[in-house]
Amino acid sequence: MNKRRRGLGLFSGGLDSMLAATVLRAQGLEVTGIYFVTPFFGPDRARQSAAHLQLPLIVLDITEKFFPLIYHPPHGFGRGHNPCIDCHLLMLREAAALLAPEGFDFLFTGEVLGQRPMSQHRNSLNLIARDSGVPELLLRPLSAKLLTPTRPELLGWVDREKLLDLNGRSRKPQIALAAAHGITDYPAPAGGCLLTDPGYAARLKEILRQQGEVSRRDLELLKWGRHFRLAGGAKAVVGRTQRDNQALEGLLEPGDRVLKVRGYPGPLVLVPGQAPDADLEVAAGLAGAYSDAPSETQVDVEVQGGGGASIIHLTTAPKARFKEWLVGGGN
Ligand code: SF4
Repeated sequence: MNKRRRGLGLFSGGLDSMLAATVLRAQGLEVTGIYFVTPFFGPDRARQSAAHLQLPLIVLDITEKFFPLIYHPPHGFGRGHNPCIDCHLLMLREAAALLAPEGFDFLFTGEVLGQRPMSQHRNSLNLIARDSGVPELLLRPLSAKLLTPTRPELLGWVDREKLLDLNGRSRKPQIALAAAHGITDYPAPAGGCLLTDPGYAARLKEILRQQGEVSRRDLELLKWGRHFRLAGGAKAVVGRTQRDNQALEGLLEPGDRVLKVRGYPGPLVLVPGQAPDADLEVAAGLAGAYSDAPSETQVDVEVQGGGGASIIHLTTAPKARFKEWLVGGGN
């Protein structure tokens, strides 16, 4: 009896990855998804989509291996701070390392020829396949008929005739295919990766310019609130919502300062690490400006952390006064 072949697929939880798994499973192949976690993309959507398909899903954290790509990805960045080609390569190499130990026969992805400007041109697909280390085992079921046949096709593990020839940016064929396969729960295209988010990417680029390198905590902080780079070099993060305030509180470290205006509802302002007094005063000004205290009102701002507590008395100023220090957009 023929062995039932097993495919391991990069599974973002987006429609393309769902379809790639579905198309292979419809041929009787055994398929498993794999999702790689970093501070920039989490597994929630992949888990939801895998559950919808009843697809087994492996989730692995690759943050430490991803760090070098934040600084110097060999193939460069996309429009944001997204090193898509090197990110794909890292994921494929990590997945390829599981093939033999976990008993998988080949890899697959939901890539579609010509769909994305940076990573899905024919040259990029070829380069990614070559540098993945397993080009002959890397199947792209959605565009396979337009690509060089892979070993799973050549050896008849997969019926190439039942694979697809999708090409370009239109989503219509995928939507029709989803309907044909009864896939009703899938996310909107794009999104999901903070490195492609213009605000996050701008904040990350700025902190890299300032510090040269980033910690995991820095990357988490960049997800919350408005960020200000003050004249003395300190950072002030101003919560926009209750959720921001709670998240910032959860990211506090010894030595950080937290500022809040007394007597009025207002944001939590976090100043991470060391800060000159002049910057703390500006941070206090931010706490006042973004509070409900009217402009030109005398307020007290409590400063806690950094080995003590103090009060800064000030007259609130309009938010526009602080605009020049705002990093990565917002208001
Ligand atoms: S968008 Fe983000 S997750 Fe996707 S390949 Fe690019 S860097 Fe990686």
